[in-house]
Amino acid sequence: MATKSGSWMMAVGAFIAFIGLYCLPAAFGSDSDRTMLGAASVMISTGMLLIASGFYVKARSLGTVAAPVSASANGKRPRKSACDRCAVQEPVIQCRVHQLHLCADCLSKHYDFRSCAYVPSTRRGASVKSAAGSLSQTVSR
Ligand SMILES: [Zn+2]
Ligand SMILES: [Zn+2]
Repeated sequence: MATKSGSWMMAVGAFIAFIGLYCLPAAFGSDSDRTMLGAASVMISTGMLLIASGFYVKARSLGTVAAPVSASANGKRPRKSACDRCAVQEPVIQCRVHQLHLCADCLSKHYDFRSCAYVPSTRRGASVKSAAGSLSQTVSR
């Protein structure tokens, strides 16, 4: 809908700018009229402004279409990926030895320098990557 109104604004703007251009020769004719020059330039600039506004409205409508997709993706994420110990916070690191995804708080409680080996949490990495390329994720599934 916004895309349509943007197209209309651009069409009307082009029409007004065209009329302005059409009036321009009258300002430079044999019997030149200074007020005609002013009127023509006003019409041209108004037309250009309308065209630019049309572009703006179109670009904004594209942005609002894209935003809900990423918002819903972010909304689902905290429920899916949670710390294995407290199940509240987002895991930042994974203990490879015990197969535990841990948040920063639980990491300090879990830490055992003799056995534990940590890697960045795969859950978190997947969520970060999916924001950039959800297409590749759907292919892998
Ligand atoms: Zn935790
Ligand atoms: Zn561990």
